[in-house]
Amino acid sequence: MVFRTFLLKYGEIGIKGKNRGQFEDALVAQVRHALSRVDGEFEVSKEQGRIYVDVTGPDDCFDPDEVTQALQRVFGLVGICQVLKVPVAEPEVIAEEAVRYIDQTYDLTSPVTFKVHTRRANKQYPVTSMEVDALVGEKLLGAFEGKMSVDVHHPDMMVYIEIREEVYIYSRIVPGPGGMPVGTNGRAQLLLSGGIDSPVAGWMIAKRGVALDATYFHAPPYTSERAKQKVVDLARLVARYSGPIRLHVVNFTDIQLEIYDRCPHDELTIIMRRYMMKIAEAFAKKDGSMGLITGESIGQVASQTIQSLVCTDDAATMPVFRPLIGFDKQDIIDVSLKIGTYDTSIQPFEDCCTIFVAKHPVTKPRLDIIKKSEERLSDNIDALMQQAIDGAETITIS
Ligand code: ATP
Ligand code: MG
Repeated sequence: MVFRTFLLKYGEIGIKGKNRGQFEDALVAQVRHALSRVDGEFEVSKEQGRIYVDVTGPDDCFDPDEVTQALQRVFGLVGICQVLKVPVAEPEVIAEEAVRYIDQTYDLTSPVTFKVHTRRANKQYPVTSMEVDALVGEKLLGAFEGKMSVDVHHPDMMVYIEIREEVYIYSRIVPGPGGMPVGTNGRAQLLLSGGIDSPVAGWMIAKRGVALDATYFHAPPYTSERAKQKVVDLARLVARYSGPIRLHVVNFTDIQLEIYDRCPHDELTIIMRRYMMKIAEAFAKKDGSMGLITGESIGQVASQTIQSLVCTDDAATMPVFRPLIGFDKQDIIDVSLKIGTYDTSIQPFEDCCTIFVAKHPVTKPRLDIIKKSEERLSDNIDALMQQAIDGAETITIS
């Protein structure tokens, strides 16, 4: 038997009143986006606080596990169920379907306890939930004698029966990622490097419903095409959750060389970071973003001490979201493993920041001193920034 329907559950928190429609529409859009990336033909519909995915193609056009995995990346979903949908019928018939469902879903090698939970949303249905519970329970006990027994308090297995316009039978609820559907909380620009941290930072903000675009700074010929490809790959991995990302690839070489030639070398990283913020903000404005996102965490490296962050922050006029600010490296690694970016992040390719790095960078930069140093750049840095912005390559990652 192939289940041709998925029931998707979402959290109800924060979606009361008129936000609800917006929340649901965004969720449906994200579900469609996720399904467009897997094999199969599907129809997505919403109905009374539920979202259903029906397979419209032949039985073998889709892989239920692949679909479930894709749906596990849709923020806003809290549960994904593979359900058997059958027409409304007498309770005996429903009970037989439930037996068939359990028989095909589980490999009952050792005895399990179960509980039936019926919901009768269709009040026209002439039999009460409790009566259906009892009947289905009885049939299951009969069909799987010695293998299944009832435990209403701590069952190993739940059997859900929902009587609506049709009858839905399911048992397992695969957890969704939670969060809010992307598109319900605006858009932000991620400063995406090839490291471990920034993809995780982007993922965390997208989880709150924020759509993403990204800026990557490279320094050819000091950094390679392969380093750039790694960032494209990371953007693609993040886009599995966030939906499409516009990735702006900025040639940062001339700006870096200019800073290198004119500014104290122990301030290089901070000054570079400040120009990164300014350029990313220019793209943020073009893309309709309201904030910047970085993968910084207090004290992780010299450029992320609290003094350094003050200097970096000053370069931006938009709010800078740093979701990893209080994370230890291991916490960040754990998330990157969970979301599948780790293996790509650890590929050893040079980063523009590591090439022009000083041996002993300042760890407690003072903003007034940094600004003073930047004055040495003033005659042509604006032109260089404009060149970098105009010359950027924009790749749409979907
Ligand atoms: P990550 O793992 O994200 O690269 P990191 O530990 O290497 O972080 P830094 O190199 O100090 O830390 O970078 C701090 C933040 O600055 C990054 O998380 C990222 O948001 C941004 N950033 C650094 N380098 C680049 C780059 N080449 N392009 C775009 N953003 C960058
Ligand atoms: Mg880095």
